Amino acid sequence: NLHKIFNSGVRTVSSPEEMRGLGRLLAEVLQPGQVVGLVGDLGAGKTHLVQGILEGLGAGNPGVSPTFSLVHEHSDARIPVCHFDFYRMELPEELLAIGWDEYLERGDLILAEWANRFDGSMMPEGTVWLLLEHAAEGVRTVSLAV
Ligand code: ADP
Ligand code: MG
Repeated sequence: NLHKIFNSGVRTVSSPEEMRGLGRLLAEVLQPGQVVGLVGDLGAGKTHLVQGILEGLGAGNPGVSPTFSLVHEHSDARIPVCHFDFYRMELPEELLAIGWDEYLERGDLILAEWANRFDGSMMPEGTVWLLLEHAAEGVRTVSLAV
C-alpha cells in the first residue's frame, strides 16, 4: 500500500524519469475515490508525478496539463482520474464553479496540484498529501502525510 511505498518516510528522486516511475508505482496502490493533494513549488515535479500515475493507469494522454483548463479528466484510465491544478485559481469559488463538490462525489481518483492553495481548505478529510521538495539540482524528495 501507500505506506509501504513511503516506508522510510521520504523518497529521494534523482531524475524526471524516476519521478514518473514513482508515479507508476503509486498507480498500483491508489484507489477510486481517493483524493491526492500534491504540494510543492513550481518545478518540484508535481506534474511529472501525475504523468507517471496516469501512465501506470493506462491513460491515453498522460501528457496533458490542466494548468490552463483547471481540470483534465482521464476517463479512459483503469481508474477514472480527474487531474486538477489550483495554480491559477484566485478564489475557492472558482473551484466550486467548475463543480468541485460533484467531482468529489463521483468516486474517481482525484489528483490536485497546488492543493495547499486556500490553505488546503478545499481538500476533504482523508486527503492523501504528497509533499514534493527541491533537494538539489535535479533531485527532489517526495514524502507522504495522510
Ligand atoms: P510542477 O508540476 O511541480 O511545477 P513539473 O513536473 O512540471 O513540476 O516540472 C518539474 C521540472 O523539474 C521539469 O522541468 C523537470 O525536468 C525538472 N526536474 C529536474 N529534476 C527532477 C526530478 N528529480 N523530478 C522531477 N522533475 C525534475
Ligand atoms: Mg504542474
